[in-house]
Amino acid sequence: MKTIKRAISPWPRRILGNYIVEKFLSFYNYVLYKKNPLVQIMYLIIAIGGFAVYVFVGFMRLIPGPYVGEYHKTVGTWIMMFCYLSFIIACNSSPGIIRKSNHTKAIKRYPYDNLIYLKNNECKTCKFTKPARSKHCSMCNICIEKFDHHCIWINNCVGLNNYRYFIMFVGSHAVVCTYGAIIGILVFIGIIEEQKLWTSQYINYKTGEKLNATVWIVLRYLLDHEFPFAFVTILCIVMTIMLSCFFGYHLWLAMTNVTTNERYKNAALFGYFTEKLDFLNFWKENFDSNHTE
Ligand SMILES: [Zn+2]
Ligand SMILES: [Zn+2]
Repeated sequence: MKTIKRAISPWPRRILGNYIVEKFLSFYNYVLYKKNPLVQIMYLIIAIGGFAVYVFVGFMRLIPGPYVGEYHKTVGTWIMMFCYLSFIIACNSSPGIIRKSNHTKAIKRYPYDNLIYLKNNECKTCKFTKPARSKHCSMCNICIEKFDHHCIWINNCVGLNNYRYFIMFVGSHAVVCTYGAIIGILVFIGIIEEQKLWTSQYINYKTGEKLNATVWIVLRYLLDHEFPFAFVTILCIVMTIMLSCFFGYHLWLAMTNVTTNERYKNAALFGYFTEKLDFLNFWKENFDSNHTE
């Protein structure tokens, strides 16, 4: 397990004192290298807080609107509930822990490729031969079958037995963010039309100058008057882009039967051989006596 090296320069100790620096280092170590629920808590704050804004502002005041029907309250609530459920399932699902009892079965599951998975490669912590496609998670301190990665959002490893729940977790959140972004944009289009924001004039508070509507002025007006709902809509738009890319990436990995761990290892291996090949070409071109111009 990775631990923080005490190579911290002496000036923070002189200014803050040993006690505070040690506490800070152990907190840093805990956050980055130990299994902890901090990011899970962050998820709950964002997911529950975001939906609360949708309920208390969107559902109670802005929906239904000219472009958003009443039924979206029910549909949106069900999709969000499914997201919470997928989070609970992903957090509590077993990734496929390798124990002494199931080790023989795990060894037989995948063949060794003798490239990134070598026979007789022992896990020093678990004290058994590592099955092909497995990895020891330093955060959970266990070996996982068909290890994908350790996900800090669900505070759990993702492996053979729970990859489908992880895909469901990411996919459902990509859907809810897309849905929230579209509904939010439609709500704002409704507000712009109802309040005739394109044809209105705006007063600059500092100069008193009257201004005609521009895209920037209308967006500023909406942000000022509907800040919580606008903030959640912007968050949904950003998250839609990020989660859709991430979801697409994992679907591609699943379809090609490659784990995130193997993707990185293959890339490292490819980089290694490319480097070797470059060196060989360089050698051949410059030092090989048989080489002719
Ligand atoms: Zn292990
Ligand atoms: Zn883990």
